[in-house]
Amino acid sequence: MNTAKIDLHLHLDGSLNIAWAYDRALKQGVIKSETTFEEFYDILFAKNIAHSPESFKKFELVCDILQTRDDLFDATYDLCRRLDDLGLIYAEIRFASQQHLKKGLTQLDALKAVIDGAKKAMEDFDIKVGIINCLMHKGDAEPFNHAENLEAIEASKIMYKKGLVGLDLAGFENNCDYKDYAPYFEIVKKEGIPFTLHAGEMGIGEHILDALSMRPNRIGHGIDCIQDQRYIDALKQSEIPLEVCVSSNVKLTQNYASHPIRRMIKEGLKVTVNTDNMIFARTDLVNEHNQLKMIGISEETLIRSTYESLDAAFCDEDTKGYLKEKLDKELHA
Ligand SMILES: [Zn+2]
Repeated sequence: MNTAKIDLHLHLDGSLNIAWAYDRALKQGVIKSETTFEEFYDILFAKNIAHSPESFKKFELVCDILQTRDDLFDATYDLCRRLDDLGLIYAEIRFASQQHLKKGLTQLDALKAVIDGAKKAMEDFDIKVGIINCLMHKGDAEPFNHAENLEAIEASKIMYKKGLVGLDLAGFENNCDYKDYAPYFEIVKKEGIPFTLHAGEMGIGEHILDALSMRPNRIGHGIDCIQDQRYIDALKQSEIPLEVCVSSNVKLTQNYASHPIRRMIKEGLKVTVNTDNMIFARTDLVNEHNQLKMIGISEETLIRSTYESLDAAFCDEDTKGYLKEKLDKELHA
């Protein structure tokens, strides 16, 4: 039984403990006092994630709960505890520090709160955790958030190797012109900070080529590569690992069996298996592995993908060595 697991693509705000989130949302007035738990649950689970700007309102709701140091700390600590329960030995948890400034935190404060929550969890549980900070592209209604993205990089520079392991580009991908974001990642590269980019998740395969031109260390999703063999070939040539999150992609028009992951594995791409959002995708990493086995992906392939995740992880070499020993012991016992 494949127990030890690694998640490289997991959003804090989309993976809250739902009972805790309900309690905090009520106490903070984020939802109306008469909202029942069932109604709150329905808001978060409605229609899964359709890739539209409206669907990002769910993220606003959960981000509104996470506007103080204590709430960010507690949410991170609790997520790490649940991941440890699920048998994860390493996780990279991402969030966007610029989404947590409504009650006076700076981006650096927000980043430190999340890192401290993860550090406390690492003392209490048998799991290693790295934090990824996300730069954001927003929907058409939002102003271009240039200053916020620059501040996110500055805060991340301070916390790199002190709990922060990398950066990301997240948000509503279809509103994103990658050329606008390349200069940010030039800065990130100069600082030597690893980064990943959400690309090819929401129907525009061309974004994969845009993302590759920015030479990221990994790509988030990348499933739209199957639109054109050119995208697949470019990914293959780059040898850049992909953070695939199957349940998160499964929508009304798609099901597990028709998800591109099997083709991607067959094409020889570097596929890692991840969760994305435990609430919105209604999943966890154990469920992801089980669903993949149901569509014919072998235990052997899943174990290989876990080693692929370890290779692609942004943590330091000492941590990698420690995790490798653990994987060898647990997966070949
Ligand atoms: Zn994501």
